[in-house]
Amino acid sequence: STAAAAIDEPIHPSIQVDHTQLLINGQFIDAASGRTFPTVDPRTGDVIARVAEGDLEDVNRAVAAARKAFDEGPWPKMTAYERSRIMLRFADLLEKHTEEVAKLETWDNGKPYEQAAKIEIPMVVRMFRYYAGWADKIHGFTVPADGQHHVQTLHEPYGVCGLIIPWNFPLLLYSWKVGPALACGNTVVLKTAEQTPLSAIYVSKLFHEAGLPPGVLNVVSGFGPTAGAALSSHMNVNKLSFTGSTATGKIVLALAAKSNLKPVTLELGGKSPFIVCKDADVDKAVELAHSALFFNQGQCCCAGSRTLVHESVYDEFVEKAKARALKRVVGDPFKTGIEQGPQIDNEQFKKILKYIRSGIESGATLESGGEQFGSKGYYIQPTVFSNVQDDMLIAKDEIFGPVQSISKFKDLEEVVQRANASSYGLAAGVFTQNIETANTLTRALRVGTVWINCYDIFDAAVPFGGFKMSGQGREKGIYGLSSYLQVKAVVTPLKNP
Ligand code: ADP
Repeated sequence: STAAAAIDEPIHPSIQVDHTQLLINGQFIDAASGRTFPTVDPRTGDVIARVAEGDLEDVNRAVAAARKAFDEGPWPKMTAYERSRIMLRFADLLEKHTEEVAKLETWDNGKPYEQAAKIEIPMVVRMFRYYAGWADKIHGFTVPADGQHHVQTLHEPYGVCGLIIPWNFPLLLYSWKVGPALACGNTVVLKTAEQTPLSAIYVSKLFHEAGLPPGVLNVVSGFGPTAGAALSSHMNVNKLSFTGSTATGKIVLALAAKSNLKPVTLELGGKSPFIVCKDADVDKAVELAHSALFFNQGQCCCAGSRTLVHESVYDEFVEKAKARALKRVVGDPFKTGIEQGPQIDNEQFKKILKYIRSGIESGATLESGGEQFGSKGYYIQPTVFSNVQDDMLIAKDEIFGPVQSISKFKDLEEVVQRANASSYGLAAGVFTQNIETANTLTRALRVGTVWINCYDIFDAAVPFGGFKMSGQGREKGIYGLSSYLQVKAVVTPLKNP
């Protein structure tokens, strides 16, 4: 069975939770209602801390603070260079506090500490430096219009941005949204996920220590249908950016439309194909397919959750994929060498086990795993199914857990058709040594990212987003800036009439 690191006694992260209040107008305050909600350690189900539960009234206060900081300054009135320097100072501070921040993130989310400290927080730091670099390089064009007019475009911030993030990468997705929003001169109200409120509060305090003026970045913890919905339908929010499930994305978009038609960027679910062609290096493909699915406990919107393998290498691939899953090291995410921690919460845990049962019942072959790992917390054994058919639930739905589904294909035409037969279109992996095969698949796949002989490469400069029901708009890179800017055309006669 799975290589087990004992999970008897959870390791104490040796930090305290100092901040659990809402951060509005540069101040820590309680929710207007006085209510709090528990945030839970996924290793045990124990409460880590109780956090202020923001609702409509708190969102109103946060939006008012952000409105004032935008309309009366100082944020949009500062020079772009000054804004950039505050963002750079924040990146430095965050880097200095990597250890504490990574500990908080692991405690609240369950992801391996080493990954948080060595990969994720450095990516967050990098993202803020990347967008700090853009702050003073945003400009419009002069436009050669017909007639006697001088025409220019100004690229201006929207104003108050409502940012709603999920629990799978709390700080990484914070950086994908807060970074470009602030670089462009907007002010922000951020609604964190109710499962993982702690890290955003902590780092937003560091942002203020770096010199961020009050009201520019407000953080509201709370639930989706209350705080999230209040933000989405607020008449004084000028732009929304949401990452989460497709079902909730539809609600958020409808709330935006029904209120003030604020533009919405959506980064939603996926069921991404990972295509292993007949000429692929099988050992490398097995390893990458494994990490494409199991990374972050399988809780990635772009998880390679449909492993499609050419029939000529299928048997070898299945055997090696099973062996790799059996070697995966599951255990307390604070322990060194751990590859997989617990799932985020009891709801996701039960949902994943239900999908596993449905896979078995629908006739897929269970190669490994299939059950809870240990007896405490929300750990699940790395699970591999082979012989998966396209009409099975596990081949269609986003499972968001450590469950790999492998199926066989015969030729490229077939695999393109099957890969595209999904309402999602977030990402795809293509494994081949043949440039022509790579080119053919790249052009044919209806997805926002194609990774060829690699997976999950997330440089700050590379745009990310979905085709079809995986979302609209792009984040990161130069494309991510345009989500936070609106264009103003300015027309002047060359000679006064
Ligand atoms: P998941 O199902 O993985 O928890 P969701 O898409 O429901 O994902 O959650 C992503 C974010 O959206 C969270 O911050 C959540 O609180 C928020 N959210 C959930 N429901 C709503 C809603 N009705 N309106 C606005 N935000 C919501």
